[in-house]
Amino acid sequence: MNLIDKIEEHFRLNPLQKLGLKKLKLETIQDLLFYLPNRYEQPGQVKNIRDVSEGEDAVIYGKVLSAKTKKGWKTKIPMAEVIIDDGTKTIKAVWFHQAYMAKKIPVGQFGEFRGKITKRPARAGGKDEIYLANPEVREALPTVGVKNSLFSRPDNQENLNPLFLIPAYPETKGLSSGWFYYHIQTILKTGLADQLTDPLPINLIKKYNLPQLKTALVWIHSPKKTSDAETAKKRFSFEEILYIQLKRLQDKHKYQNNPFFKITREQNEVEKFVKRFPFPLTQAQDKAINQIITDLSGNKPMTRLLEGDVGSGKTAVAATTAFAVVKSGFQVAYMAPTEILARQHFESFIEYFKHIPNINIGLMTGSECRKFPSKIESGHTHLSRTQLIKWVADGRIPILIGTHSLIQKTVKFKNLAYVIIDEQHRFGVMQRAKLTRKESDKAKVPHLLSMTATPIPRTLALTIYGDLDLTLLDEMPRGRKEIVTEIIAPDKRAETYEFIRTQIKAGRQAYVICPRIDEPDPDQEMALNAKSVTAEQIRLGEQIFPEFMVGLVHGKMKPTEKEEMMQEFTAGKIDILVATSVIEVGVNVPNATIIIIEGAERFGLAQLHQLRGRVIRGNHQAYCFLFSETKSAKSFTRLKALKTAKNGFELAEQDLAIRGAGGLTAGKQWGISDIGMEAIKNLKMVEAARTEAQTLLNEDLELKKYPQIREKIGQKKTEIHFE
Ligand code: ADP
Ligand code: MG
Repeated sequence: MNLIDKIEEHFRLNPLQKLGLKKLKLETIQDLLFYLPNRYEQPGQVKNIRDVSEGEDAVIYGKVLSAKTKKGWKTKIPMAEVIIDDGTKTIKAVWFHQAYMAKKIPVGQFGEFRGKITKRPARAGGKDEIYLANPEVREALPTVGVKNSLFSRPDNQENLNPLFLIPAYPETKGLSSGWFYYHIQTILKTGLADQLTDPLPINLIKKYNLPQLKTALVWIHSPKKTSDAETAKKRFSFEEILYIQLKRLQDKHKYQNNPFFKITREQNEVEKFVKRFPFPLTQAQDKAINQIITDLSGNKPMTRLLEGDVGSGKTAVAATTAFAVVKSGFQVAYMAPTEILARQHFESFIEYFKHIPNINIGLMTGSECRKFPSKIESGHTHLSRTQLIKWVADGRIPILIGTHSLIQKTVKFKNLAYVIIDEQHRFGVMQRAKLTRKESDKAKVPHLLSMTATPIPRTLALTIYGDLDLTLLDEMPRGRKEIVTEIIAPDKRAETYEFIRTQIKAGRQAYVICPRIDEPDPDQEMALNAKSVTAEQIRLGEQIFPEFMVGLVHGKMKPTEKEEMMQEFTAGKIDILVATSVIEVGVNVPNATIIIIEGAERFGLAQLHQLRGRVIRGNHQAYCFLFSETKSAKSFTRLKALKTAKNGFELAEQDLAIRGAGGLTAGKQWGISDIGMEAIKNLKMVEAARTEAQTLLNEDLELKKYPQIREKIGQKKTEIHFE
């Protein structure tokens, strides 16, 4: 066996397993060795078979009496069936879909079996039978000297004591945690890990007291104690964050070494532009605009992140800075994640720019193209994609707003100097890179402004936005009232509906957010209580609010249908809009001042915060009702944070504290593994990784001295966003 060998050269794989490995991008023996557990099962109580009962998670020590493959009686599912004897009684262990287990388990030897005691109802004439379902197996002893067998016979009582931790690996169809455990242990036993050289510089290993790679692998896959597993995890998460930081900082440096567009600063013009706004800028907006224009007229391309809560007025900042670029004779692209949002920005921009002569603004989405002004009508006009693309290419359209349609190959700009990406967390990795791509080495790169309202903890921001300079919009426009936020238990529902009725009668409008589109799918445990939008629209319209118009919008509707519905809602023809979280971004209806969130405990705090942000658009008192049936104290505490936290960033920190890094499920979207997310809990570690990355690059920008790291972060190119 060699580290670079394909897994299938050494282990027999069924088609499902092959597919699973492909999905997990595991090809070689080495890949498998680096597939890390995401948690450990605590050592359980060893039970006598005689004493086990249905439903319990049991650890059984015993001798294997027989092992055979079978097919399900009716189902024909292939399975392995093993009889275990522990001296008190025998029990069957059954592995469904894993018939190969029968061959892996040597008859006559001892092992530890860990699984759920399950009952099979009696067949005609027989008795109910309990068995151990899909148990994890491991040998009862350290494996010294034992070859080609899963178990070794325990020679003294002490060795029967299972004080070790059981690693649990993320599973996928066909590949159970046990499968990974068994095969990784097999690889470890060959001693192949000895051939690995540690990519981490030795001074860092010493400075931070980290285990060497080989040790870390052994500790993480077969820890003898919790602290071993923790220390190993720490090493791997530090390593991962270090690589991400290296990649980010390297990217930033490379991007900023490109030729770029220099914008002339015309303070007077910008001030005139801003004066026309129907509101005075907040100080934060003013500062942000200045900072960005300073960048745009500076001596390297800008890469900046504008982070501001929902409603903090990012669009005005985008428009003003776009104006400065257009004024210098260059083009601007403004990309939004949804059609609704793109259209809304298009309309806002028309308002901001309509007084300026000869400014063409284009809109390009998957379903349509528009241009402002129209030669014939007073507003915008529709035009063909080909036409719009042509005018963008010859520079006649200085401002192009759109969805990811903007990144199609056919869309070429004459002199794209400024790219604005709204709600940038919504975009995939490659999408962002494409909009800033260059046609040739000598071509100029655009300045980049990413905007986000997603409140994320500082550690995460430092990591995933390591390549961006940060501007915060930490101030809300004046006159906005605090949103009254209430958690509503089931017995307060009727009362709340009555309150809403008086509000709607007074002319306001409401959103009702549900977690699902269709009727609950009974097959999905989690979905059981989740309200569906379609059913809720009917229920509210017929039973609760028959006197009001109740509309519906969800992600599976056609864009035109969605838009129609949104327009009716904006126009006030609909009083209550039932929606899935598609409205999370992209609606701006100042008269909608109430939002009900059904099943609130299912949403992340950050998402709830975003949803609630939909009702701070106007100056009427706004209300957010979190309908929840949760009985869990933890969920309740979490929801209460929405009442007390001052802003989204504070919420994000609380989410991290309450739910842990695991609650930040979005890690994958940023190319961070579960292990890497471990570091996100630890500000010191993230800061250390960042400092060390900077030091390494200062010495050696290309990482010539560290070919292994270079190769590793090279691989990350497609996984991690590049801005
Ligand atoms: P977001 O930061 O969520 O993108 P928007 O740019 O959509 O926020 O702005 C939200 C609303 O606030 C818009 O209706 C906008 O016109 C308004 N707005 C923006 N800046 C100010 C301000 N300084 N004072 C008052 N209202 C403002
Ligand atoms: Mg916005």
